Amino acid sequence: MSEKHILQRINWTNTLFITITPVVAIAGTAWWIASGSFNWATVIFAVAMLYATGMSITAGYHRLFSHRSYTASKPVEWFFMLFGSASFEGTIIDWCADHRVHHRFQDKEEDPYAIHKGFWYAHVGWLFLKNWKAEEGKGVKDLWANPLLKWQHENYILIASVMCFGFPMAVAALWGDALGGLFIAGALRLVLNHHFTWFINSLCHYVGAQPYSDKHTSRDNWFTALFTYGEGYHNFHHEFPGDYRNGIRWFDYDPTKWLIYGLSKIGMANGLHVVAPERIIERKIQMQEVRLTRKLAKKSPAVVTFAHETIAAAKARFQAASERLADIREQYHELQSKKDEAIAHQVEEMRVKFHEAQREFYQTVAMWKAMAQGLGKLA
Ligand SMILES: [Zn+2]
Ligand SMILES: [Zn+2]
Repeated sequence: MSEKHILQRINWTNTLFITITPVVAIAGTAWWIASGSFNWATVIFAVAMLYATGMSITAGYHRLFSHRSYTASKPVEWFFMLFGSASFEGTIIDWCADHRVHHRFQDKEEDPYAIHKGFWYAHVGWLFLKNWKAEEGKGVKDLWANPLLKWQHENYILIASVMCFGFPMAVAALWGDALGGLFIAGALRLVLNHHFTWFINSLCHYVGAQPYSDKHTSRDNWFTALFTYGEGYHNFHHEFPGDYRNGIRWFDYDPTKWLIYGLSKIGMANGLHVVAPERIIERKIQMQEVRLTRKLAKKSPAVVTFAHETIAAAKARFQAASERLADIREQYHELQSKKDEAIAHQVEEMRVKFHEAQREFYQTVAMWKAMAQGLGKLA
């Protein structure tokens, strides 16, 4: 690529902004401490801003607007729009256009932050270049139809500047530390926001386990979840992007999931989409099967045949139980939705059947695990 060509491809607004903000953050913080302006109120406020803005990206930009994994009330949409703007990561429409392409073409040339182009490219490098495909705004018609998002898109720089710098300055001025508001809750918080989000595109496609699929580069990692507000369970997310959760076990650190769940409990979020457990376990089992088969491939033909038959039998048992469970769940929910007292006994019968099917299903999962462990010893 010629030098002229590279220069033409540079997105100068992004490049300057991303280069200057860390300098302002570091110099401003140093001045703030050296001049004796340090103030705990400002620190606490900056941390609150970090969470409000970071989670407006994960719960708002990402799980609500990009993936439609739930619906939110207007005040919640407003909050995510305002505080998400304070992260200076672009408008919801642009952000989601990029992100939907990232999922649709994961790891391919079209993926705007494909990890195969390099760790630093996926982390931040891609932002230094003009992203032609995203500018076309394809695949985000639903977002253009939302007047709030259209308004944000048309007035973005003003909204983002006020929310990112003006708002923290005004709040911190209440305790006489407007400049602390600017440098700590504004610039320093913004730089952290940026890197925490970018880690999802770099680290979450780089380090960690792949329990659901190794057909794409995304990884599950509890450590990255700590500073990405729960987005570290990225292998699950790429397999099931429509699920409002990323960390699915109750103890998985996923504050974004807890926030959405909490909002649903106070009536401010609805239609939380959850993938049926048997589908999730099925994907895990498929992945384990691939790994087991690979491990045992070099063994003698007798072992390979034995393994093949054992896996097939365990899988058949699991699949039958899985289908039965899905079927009974559907019937059970259908009966329940009728809300008819006259069929109460039928609903109760179905509830018992459903729990039986669930028990059977988890027994086949336990059998699968025992089988996989046993075969693992042969490898
Ligand atoms: Zn990803
Ligand atoms: Zn996503």
